[in-house]
Amino acid sequence: MTIYLDGKFVSEDEAKVSVFDHGLLYGDGVFEGIRLYSGKIFRLEQHLNRLFASAKAIMLQIPMTKPALTEACCDTCARNKLSDGYIRLVVTRGVGYLGLNPFKCKNPTVFIIASTIELYPEDVYRKGLNLITAGTIRNSPAAMSPAIKSLNYLNNILAKIEAVNAGTVEALMLNADGYVAECTGDNVFVVRDGKLQTPPISAGSLNGITRGVVMELAAKLGVAVTEPNLTRYDVMTADECFLTGTAAEIVPVATLDGRPIGSGKPGVLTLKLTGEFRKLTRSEGTAIARG
Ligand code: PMP
Repeated sequence: MTIYLDGKFVSEDEAKVSVFDHGLLYGDGVFEGIRLYSGKIFRLEQHLNRLFASAKAIMLQIPMTKPALTEACCDTCARNKLSDGYIRLVVTRGVGYLGLNPFKCKNPTVFIIASTIELYPEDVYRKGLNLITAGTIRNSPAAMSPAIKSLNYLNNILAKIEAVNAGTVEALMLNADGYVAECTGDNVFVVRDGKLQTPPISAGSLNGITRGVVMELAAKLGVAVTEPNLTRYDVMTADECFLTGTAAEIVPVATLDGRPIGSGKPGVLTLKLTGEFRKLTRSEGTAIARG
């Protein structure tokens, strides 16, 4: 595997960062997870826009332009001969001293991994996922905004541990007010009376690219989407529920805390949106091969 690291393409063995990198010491950095379908990177511009917004929020100056990052992402995929895969683009604060001060780190570290990912077993997509509600509350937007896609994922990991301990793969996270925020690595939607609902970003969720794509697809299908605050009750009594994420794509949810949602099987609108999503991801994107 060939990795992009600070302007060079290196082998996996050579792709090493310093133990003094603040990305490692403090989780001080930002990242994106991006998909490649049929030789084209899906929604790369949106991912780069979010990366720059996350960096801005933590006063991190990304040392490359968006066109340069686009080229680096394309070249990393091409060098690994990928046509379908998953790209991890990471920008850390860089090497510093053993104190928090981020401004003592002179050069941010930039690396890109292009590989494949299978987040959930095939079964989950066919039968639906069994979701649990995590006891771990999502980070408060007033403390550490979940809208920043940072290298600090411990809040999510604590909830993920709960999911795994409960014998499943994903957990619903509530905010401090008891409203649904999102899952550990995915946004959440419910279907009620043929309409879609998803929590507002202000409830403590990432402004998911897939979430946005689903909203676009719903508009094309003439399906209304609103962003109200949702409670566990709203999820339990919904007709359908599904999760969205770049790696996960669209995941039907069968149960929440052992209670079937709707029929307890992937819902009609969920499956319709999944079909439309599949068509879209294969039809647009930034081609990795130039010329
Ligand atoms: N929420 C969290 C916490 C995430 O980490 C992710 C990405 N894995 C998402 C939502 C989904 O965002 P996107 O559709 O942009 O991948």
